[in-house]
Amino acid sequence: MELWFTEKQNDNFSVSYRVRETLYVEKTPFQHLAVLDTVPFGRMLVLDGIVQTSVVDEYIYHEMIAHVPLNTHPDPKRVLIIGGGDGGTLREVTKHPKVEKATLVEIDERVIAVSRKFLPELACGFDAANAEVVIGDGIKYVAENKNTFDLIIVDSTDPVGPAVGLFSLEFYRSVHEALREDGIFVAQTESPYFMADLIARIYKDISGIFPVTRTYWACIPTYPGSMWSFTLGSKKYDPLTVAPEAILDYETRYYTPAIHRACFAMPRFLEERFK
Ligand code: SAM
Repeated sequence: MELWFTEKQNDNFSVSYRVRETLYVEKTPFQHLAVLDTVPFGRMLVLDGIVQTSVVDEYIYHEMIAHVPLNTHPDPKRVLIIGGGDGGTLREVTKHPKVEKATLVEIDERVIAVSRKFLPELACGFDAANAEVVIGDGIKYVAENKNTFDLIIVDSTDPVGPAVGLFSLEFYRSVHEALREDGIFVAQTESPYFMADLIARIYKDISGIFPVTRTYWACIPTYPGSMWSFTLGSKKYDPLTVAPEAILDYETRYYTPAIHRACFAMPRFLEERFK
């Protein structure tokens, strides 16, 4: 018998994965959580029916959300990650030798516990000596910590449920206050094919607050449409002026000095949306 999991993007488009085994299912106080062992992408974390990450292609997303801003800031000592309960972003952030402390604020402690059990390749990030984990709402945490961080990364679920506020103008203002005077903010901002209006709105909101705003992208096979966007707001440093030789040389599988530059190149259909 063949088992398939289908992620429904909208009424007209869905993606299906052949499933070897359903490893875990739970209804947490925040969301439906599942871990599937799929034939094409190995173990996958699925929240409310949406693929969050897979062991086969996770490195692309986690390296791009972490290393682009980390290598834009000359001294990223204090880093805050909102969401990211699988641990992959924390694993990448704690690779950077200048990071003294990385705090991860995840609203659903079950995501962390289940990732520790089924996704150890990602959850190893929680074992870094300079990692701190806080269970709570990232929106509240950001509002309570002013002028504290060099880098804030929003590694959230899609803008539904507890993540809705993480895509709001009010939250971006709060992030600006939580950053130090030369701080950087980056967020995963969804699919340029399916959510172009949302990305254009986010770009406009962030550019009204931060003097430097840049959208960049990477191809991540398990996200709908593959092309996935990240939007960065910076108080001072521009990722486009980072010299390739200033990019630190640590182990990555996707991110390189050339990718750091190339990921900001926009196809014309998108360029026209971000003016
Ligand atoms: N890479 C993933 C993606 O783009 O699909 C996101 C991964 S990570 C599992 C997302 C996490 O954000 C979830 O574990 C969810 O519980 C958490 N989250 C959602 N809203 C949050 C909030 N307001 N504060 C803190 N964490 C939140």
